[in-house]
Amino acid sequence: MRERNGRVNLKNLTIDELESFVVSLGEKPFRAGQLARWLYGRKARSFEEMTDLARSFREKLMEKSRISFLQPAEVKASPDGTKKYRFLLTDGEAVESVLLPEKDHFTLCLSTQAGCALGCKFCLTGTRGLARNLDPSEIIDQVIGVQATLLAEEKLTNLVLMGMGEPLHNFDNVVRALKVIRSPAGLHFSHRRVTLSTAGIIPEMEEISSRHHFIKLAISLNASTDEQRSALMPINRKYPLNDLLAACRRIPLSNREKITFEYVLIRGLNDSEEDAHRLAKLLKGIRAKVNLIPFNEHSQSPFKRPEDIAVQKFRQILMARRFTTMVRQSKGSDIMAACGQLGGKVKTEGFEKIK
Ligand code: SAH
Ligand code: SF4
Repeated sequence: MRERNGRVNLKNLTIDELESFVVSLGEKPFRAGQLARWLYGRKARSFEEMTDLARSFREKLMEKSRISFLQPAEVKASPDGTKKYRFLLTDGEAVESVLLPEKDHFTLCLSTQAGCALGCKFCLTGTRGLARNLDPSEIIDQVIGVQATLLAEEKLTNLVLMGMGEPLHNFDNVVRALKVIRSPAGLHFSHRRVTLSTAGIIPEMEEISSRHHFIKLAISLNASTDEQRSALMPINRKYPLNDLLAACRRIPLSNREKITFEYVLIRGLNDSEEDAHRLAKLLKGIRAKVNLIPFNEHSQSPFKRPEDIAVQKFRQILMARRFTTMVRQSKGSDIMAACGQLGGKVKTEGFEKIK
């Protein structure tokens, strides 16, 4: 992890590690709780603010550690209420997060990598390749950076790891970030309100759902045959449909919990009635919920969005097979903030480096 001047970035530590760190400075373990409250409850940006910590403790903290913060460099708002935040990272990379207004709360779509190595044919992020993994702090700071722009009555309650990158390709950092995001001493999000979306990296899917059963999973299926899926998502050659769905069947689910399957509908490619029937067959026996995402067009892809009538027909077929099926509206597409439209530009040149 990128550390500067030998100082530990406190937001790269889990709450347990924060305690060990505090103890290593010669302080009592409970001081970690106080420190965490400053970092995640009050979103402190400096040690000077932490007035209830002894001066000697604050001086040790200043010497050995630092507090990161991501200030949005740019915020674009769409008339539909969606906002896209662009954050510049210390090494010149940029990441984007998207804030989606719902009826009585907000959902934030987080990035986990700058770019993505998986190169799915329909995804703008994938056309650029992977620049690098994000540190845990860079994932957590997207949440804190956006929260800082909200009014008191605007509640950010839901997080989706569906922005730039494949979260399970940055497994350790994502798990660390999730631990802080979920911990009552950290950002304290409910496990029912944090969803990780993956292109289907089977071993890590199994690990996160068994060892770290503290989030909901969404799987990007996007096709109803291996041939189609391999053409759209090269990762399917490594983890083909049958293996992926078998792994989904093994995921332990609590009462009434479901696995979400995302399916990007592309005109004339995977949006036929036969596709819908095949998809229903593939999902048989899985407690599944389907999110249909009409393809969001962008300059790097020749694909087209299907007609609304095709989307509705596809949905009806799945509903008739008793799968809860939603159509995800392409919120924010006018500001290139909709699914698959993030990260047109990975490296940002010529800006003031944040010290
Ligand atoms: N890498 C993860 C999470 C980020 S992509 C994954 O693939 O699941 C988030 C979602 O956006 C995925 O379901 C993906 O299939 C979808 N997506 C990508 N490009 C899209 C596009 N152009 N239009 C609509 N959805 C897209
Ligand atoms: Fe990566 Fe997901 Fe885009 Fe595929 S859809 S290239 S896995 S971000």
